[in-house]
Amino acid sequence: YSHFFPKHSFHPCFYSYIWTNQNGGIMKHVIIAGGAGFIGSHLCEYLLHKGDRVICLDNFRTGHPKNVSALTNHPYFKLVEHDITMPYMIKGIDEIYNLACPASPIHYQDSPIETTKTSVIGTLNLLELARENHCRFLQASTSEVYGDPEVHPQPESYWGHVNPNGIRSCYDVGKRCAESLCMDYHRRYGVAVKIIRIFNTYGPRMACDDGRVVSNFILQALQGKDLTIYGNGMQTRSFQYVDDLIQGMERIMSTPDSFTGPVNLGNPEEHTILEFAERILELTGSRSRMVFRPLPADDPKRRNPDITLARQALDWHPRISLREGLQQTIAYYRNLLAESPSQNIS
Ligand code: NAD
Ligand code: UDP
Repeated sequence: YSHFFPKHSFHPCFYSYIWTNQNGGIMKHVIIAGGAGFIGSHLCEYLLHKGDRVICLDNFRTGHPKNVSALTNHPYFKLVEHDITMPYMIKGIDEIYNLACPASPIHYQDSPIETTKTSVIGTLNLLELARENHCRFLQASTSEVYGDPEVHPQPESYWGHVNPNGIRSCYDVGKRCAESLCMDYHRRYGVAVKIIRIFNTYGPRMACDDGRVVSNFILQALQGKDLTIYGNGMQTRSFQYVDDLIQGMERIMSTPDSFTGPVNLGNPEEHTILEFAERILELTGSRSRMVFRPLPADDPKRRNPDITLARQALDWHPRISLREGLQQTIAYYRNLLAESPSQNIS
């Protein structure tokens, strides 16, 4: 068989059966850890639609089965409650996407030790699985590895400015360690790792109690509550719509095994938090006021991705404007509030 079929579609544990999808392409067997979270649920949906077989592993710490409820009857989708800090054994996997980790500052600061364990032990367990399966491994790293950056915008070559033991360290140091593990598995065992550094990403299915700025401001605006600006609102962020990120993830998974990244995936359009609040008020038509609250410790002052590498190596750049992405996201939250008006905001 191996003369006729590409190696990666040949699975001895499935009795040498060649898997093709409904689009006539080769069906890949994919694990998405953290697949019941915001980004993970979009990735599950996208890969199933493309014709892959998806196993979603999640401990539902910050994600929820309802995020993938539309997929649970799909014949090629399997949802498994599993904490990646424990090993998971399976054969015949072509690709692993590691998205498992709380991503919102309030959530990871609420369970800092679990967050570090997830990034370090969890990534180690999944890298072992990738090694045993000789499969590709994508690590969802973050712009947080640059800390409170002193270089602006941030290229991948910048080593960052990170507090090693502050309240954000469980997340940003944990993600740095995960990157280090990925590169050591690549150098030592030849695992085809792909590291992406994701910049602030938003879209439908961000949890209402997520606590990040996009869901907070939209929900506050739609409910007529005050928009909570932390600090003076002059800190900046660059916001990427989730569909653009999913395209970037697919592109990097198709690169040769020697291409590991890290690659920044983000939208280089930069906004102050004050400008962003004004944009939300305009697009929702809300008359909410802005109120100022203390700036959390170690909150980065500026953040903007240099995406030169993603443009060159992946022929990728974001295509969805902030206006368009926010309109989609606002519509999602409007529907949610119409169904149950008292959504809690963190
Ligand atoms: P999210 O909190 O919605 O999703 C994370 C998912 O991981 C959740 O479903 C959660 O239950 C699951 N999870 C957490 N710990 C786990 C564990 N030990 N075992 C199994 N599952 C576990 O967050 P998100 O915004 O979808 O982020 C997804 C990934 O992307 C994270 O790794 C995050 O660090 C990374 N990222 C996101 C952004 C962003 O702006 N959204 C930016 C940079 C990086
Ligand atoms: N922020 C804010 N009000 C909120 C939530 C967040 O002003 O209700 C600020 C936060 O202090 C930070 C920026 O918005 O400067 C982005 O915060 P978020 O938690 O979304 O992501 P971060 O980039 O900090 O991980």
